[in-house]
Amino acid sequence: MLKTTENQLLENRWDQTKAQDMSESDLLLYRSNILGSDKRVTNYGGGNTSAKVMETDPLTGEQVEVLWVKGSGGDIGSIKMDGFATLYMDKLTALKGLYRGVAFEDEMVGYLPHCTFRLNPRAASIDTPLHAYVPRKHVDHVHADAIIAIAASKNSRDLTQEIFGDKIGWLPWKKPGYELGLWLENFCLENPDADGVVLESHGLFTWGDTARACYDMTIEVINTATQWLADKTANVPAFGGAKHISLAARDRRAVAARLMPAIRGFVSGNQHMVGHFNDSDAVLEFVNAHDMAPLAALGTSCPDHFLRTKIRPLVVDYDPATGNIDEVLTGLPTQIAAYRDDYAAYYNRCKHDNSPALRDPNAVVYLVPGVGMITFAKDKATARISGEFYVNAINVMRGASSVSEYTGLPEQEAFDIEYWLLEEAKLQRMPKPKSLAGRVALITGGAGGIGAATAERYLAEGACVMLADIAQDSLKAALDDMTRRYGKDVVRTAVMDVTDEVAVAAAYAEMAVEFGGVDILVSNAGIASSAPVEETTLALWNKNMEILSTGYFLVSREAFRLMRVQDMGGSIVFVASKNGLAASPNASAYCTAKASEIHLARCLALEGAEAGIRVNVVNPDAVLRGSKIWEGEWLEQRAGTYGTDKDGLEEMYRKRSLLKRSVLPEDIAEAAYFFAADTSAKSTGNILNVDAGNVQSFTR
Ligand code: NAD
Repeated sequence: MLKTTENQLLENRWDQTKAQDMSESDLLLYRSNILGSDKRVTNYGGGNTSAKVMETDPLTGEQVEVLWVKGSGGDIGSIKMDGFATLYMDKLTALKGLYRGVAFEDEMVGYLPHCTFRLNPRAASIDTPLHAYVPRKHVDHVHADAIIAIAASKNSRDLTQEIFGDKIGWLPWKKPGYELGLWLENFCLENPDADGVVLESHGLFTWGDTARACYDMTIEVINTATQWLADKTANVPAFGGAKHISLAARDRRAVAARLMPAIRGFVSGNQHMVGHFNDSDAVLEFVNAHDMAPLAALGTSCPDHFLRTKIRPLVVDYDPATGNIDEVLTGLPTQIAAYRDDYAAYYNRCKHDNSPALRDPNAVVYLVPGVGMITFAKDKATARISGEFYVNAINVMRGASSVSEYTGLPEQEAFDIEYWLLEEAKLQRMPKPKSLAGRVALITGGAGGIGAATAERYLAEGACVMLADIAQDSLKAALDDMTRRYGKDVVRTAVMDVTDEVAVAAAYAEMAVEFGGVDILVSNAGIASSAPVEETTLALWNKNMEILSTGYFLVSREAFRLMRVQDMGGSIVFVASKNGLAASPNASAYCTAKASEIHLARCLALEGAEAGIRVNVVNPDAVLRGSKIWEGEWLEQRAGTYGTDKDGLEEMYRKRSLLKRSVLPEDIAEAAYFFAADTSAKSTGNILNVDAGNVQSFTR
């Protein structure tokens, strides 16, 4: 029996009590969402669903047949009603008269907007004809691993026949498009009793007269294939058996933490890349196996897979038995250069006169024996999803290589999909990336007022953030709040005391595994204290120095180390204080420690410049709202000194400022954003006061 959970049978999730009063379009949405809710049915964004529904034509008032089909770029698991394209069936049928043959099939995509029903703005996808021309009311197209395992086997036609008899047919590989739509129609006309068809190297089509019948058929067909594979492979060691033994979980992460920043540096030439690490059982079984390297070299099969993962991964020369990580890091530039050369050679072998230019030649997927799989992409979600796609590919290879011989797609076919002009047009339509897309930021004191506001600003600009703080409860609250608004992928937390050298290094290692490295450090963790000098205990003095001065040193030193490994520059922002420039009564320890931060920033700006590491300072003053500093003793002491309460203090500080304005955490966050972003690419060693104007802190 196959080991991993990916290979267990699917449950039928249809709930008739929910479905009974639904309209046909509601049923399509329902069916799509329950199908897509299980990644074993189809990968993220993969496959599509459709229904042919009678609707009232807004132009004539007559009943017309309308195709509802997943629109371009959607995902059936998360699709909403507006994700479906709607097209007149009679116009889609009329398109056949315009078809000039397979060499011109791409031009048919241009006609689809002319078939739009009710001015629906959702663009129809390339797969629309595949649904339109199947002469059945409800059609599902999915990329189930168990089915692709059959579809990517050398003798997939025979296997399909053996498993399904005449119930499910088989069609040879054909790039999705207009021609394949006609093939499907033809198949249905010639095989009126068939319930579906396996597409070689691609996936499954199933159909039915009702939404439920179609759904039931899809689940049944996948389960039949899953069970058949499980029975056949019960005593077959997957991938030729194990060659390596996995390291312990902690050690796997430690190796990934060393590798990921180094790889990131190489692959971030055009844009900053974010990493993802996966050491699930399915991945470890594959990376440890005898046949991993030859199978990986064959490339993935399903078009959806290799569009996300590139045709083949890079197998890192790591040996878990000897733990040769230093050797691997030394050899990495050569390994990566060889991969790029290989990719460029593939491009040159397969390109056509009108092919788009060579794209990023770096690998997306890195397989590390004994350790797991690393993926890199332009943002965290894409890196994670690319990894999930490769797990789909592993499942496919496991099934196919156990019952037959696994075959990748022929190179030219793969190229024609990867560099398809229609695919290129889709890429060109993508919105411009946000200003911090692909950037990774560590924010100390990230659970506090200014830290959280800064994290929020960075997240809104597309960055990934790690919030580091000693306050565990506040960290949890900040994490919940930010993941709710920005999604799970982009926020992580570390309980970390900035004065603890070991904890600081551990947080950076964690960040390297979670995101691939670091680009931005916001050193912000802090406290405030107030006492006349003669009442300042040595303990109070040391506490200020440890958190504000030494703490800023420790987090910067570690950032420098990681940034130098990546060799991509970086930005360090110190949140110091107006009091680092201007003396304040009864706060000598705090003011001196803050002054030390500012001078440390200058020293680091000098040292980091040749590596492109910029270091700048933001000086807040009197940010009362949101700040925890202004809740405890410091508030009482300050309020006591001026004989007022918190509101009174804020008002007093506002009046004291030159601009007569209150300073908010968001104002500090804006300055921290400026120094993190490329808009300040030519600034280092600078100080930006965000204090509503204070003559004492004017720099000179
Ligand atoms: P805050 O108290 O809301 O946030 C500070 C955070 O730092 C807290 O979450 C705290 O738990 C964390 N922290 C404290 N010691 C730590 C340690 N040893 N390791 C890790 N985390 C630790 O305060 P804030 O107003 O957001 O302050 C942020 C920074 O701004 C501080 O450095 C502060 O000195 C500076 N600052 C604030 C003001 C202001 O008026 N609020 C003015 C000038 C400077």
